[in-house]
Amino acid sequence: MTRMAVAPDTPTPVQRWVRRIARMVGVVRTRPRAGLRVLLYHAVGTDVPGDRYGMSVTQRAFADQMQWLRDESGCAIVSLESGAARLARRELTGTAVAVTFDDGYRDVLSQAAPVLDRYGIPFTVFVVGSYLERPPTARLFLDTESLRELAAVPNATIGAHGYTHRPLSRLSDEVLDDELRAVRQGLAEHLGAPPSGIAYPHGAVDRRVIDRVKAAGFQLGATSFVGVNQPNVLPLSLRRTELLASDGVNEFAGKIRGDYDWYQVRQRLYWPVPA
Ligand SMILES: [Zn+2]
Repeated sequence: MTRMAVAPDTPTPVQRWVRRIARMVGVVRTRPRAGLRVLLYHAVGTDVPGDRYGMSVTQRAFADQMQWLRDESGCAIVSLESGAARLARRELTGTAVAVTFDDGYRDVLSQAAPVLDRYGIPFTVFVVGSYLERPPTARLFLDTESLRELAAVPNATIGAHGYTHRPLSRLSDEVLDDELRAVRQGLAEHLGAPPSGIAYPHGAVDRRVIDRVKAAGFQLGATSFVGVNQPNVLPLSLRRTELLASDGVNEFAGKIRGDYDWYQVRQRLYWPVPA
């Protein structure tokens, strides 16, 4: 993949427009939208080849965001698992925030986990089964040994992100079931128990995928649709709010308040699932 001339922490024209509208939304909002807000990160502190979207945030930005979350946001900080359980029991008041990572970048262990551990923030990492056995780029992704190390970090939970990272909604029933079985078996082997949560690769999810994911034994499913989760949300269809390299603390605060939640309308109209 060729490297982009534009730095990943420079917002794309679309991202700039989204931010402009979010600022206008934020002007009239006085407090964060109530419910469970699940944050979605990918890489932290690594230069990811071909990252024109800005999925890798710097460790400095990440640390600033976590500090703001703990000290200034006024939100409760929960693990995805306990947050979803408390939400379902209607025990959450105000806004609770959970931190998640997709893809299983190695830097979650080396760069993000020390920050999270320092601030006592729980987090969930969704890993791709086949990447662990044979990382496509050894430098970038966790292998089985570093996965075990990550799983031993206090307050860390490991979830699944498919076995091959293919969009699940594009797979036949049979291939989809194999994919889910393979990642559950692999993680059970390395960690002693199958994962309870899955994040849908490429955000590709529909009713059929949810039914089969449930039948495979998963209890939680994380989508890429932005928004805050209310008690009536389907636990296998949780919304998440993605953070990008171009987000400063102001954008981070705006995303937690819900200033970007309107973007879901655009996401539902057009979701670029690869073939
Ligand atoms: Zn992914």
